[in-house]
Amino acid sequence: MLLSGVTLAASVAEAAPVRQVIGHSALDRPITSWRQGDPESEFRVLVVGSVHGDERQGMRVVSRLRQQLAGRKGPKRIGIWTVKSANPDGTAANTRKNARGVDLNRNFPFRWDGSLNGGYNSGPRPASEPETRTMMRFSRRVGFDLAIWFHQPWGRTLAPCNRDRQWALLYARLSGLGTGGGCDRSRYPGSAVSWQHHTDGTTAFVVEFGPGVQPRAVIARHARAVIRLAKRMD
Ligand SMILES: [Zn+2]
Repeated sequence: MLLSGVTLAASVAEAAPVRQVIGHSALDRPITSWRQGDPESEFRVLVVGSVHGDERQGMRVVSRLRQQLAGRKGPKRIGIWTVKSANPDGTAANTRKNARGVDLNRNFPFRWDGSLNGGYNSGPRPASEPETRTMMRFSRRVGFDLAIWFHQPWGRTLAPCNRDRQWALLYARLSGLGTGGGCDRSRYPGSAVSWQHHTDGTTAFVVEFGPGVQPRAVIARHARAVIRLAKRMD
């Protein structure tokens, strides 16, 4: 009896989220990750709810996913790391850019373009921003197989024109948020997903919700789609 009690306690502890501050923003706000799912994860998933602080619907997907995985191991061999906002200063101020006026999704070092300014200000140099460096360090440390970054307001799943395309297409089917056909030829210099794909071979893509607040059922369907996609890829 004692033994089974101990075993039960251990498995509950394993299933509890492991919260970790992975870095800090320009204004010293913590950037926090929750690890959930199977602690023996061989397949590692990252979900980022928001990197542009005025695009907030993906944070609801993260909350929903966390709820769904709470107290459960979730799918076997799959570990899920969630970051509600990689831009907590922008989230607090409800601005696209970080507190230093940089578009973090143009600040990653792969194909960084220093000529961008205004709304897409790429920063004074590649990875100049603490939030960018936090996500780079974190990605390198964990080594993600799959990464999904939520944005707004285009209302489609962006399928890259590389081998990740098939998985973005499957996600589009599972979530009900279509790609609009074909793959996305526009290059986004200094973006998080192209850096992850290039550096770690991570399957990484962007999901763009439409503008405004999404229905609760849509948020729930995206949370399920993340898990279903990971299961299909594993
Ligand atoms: Zn965005």
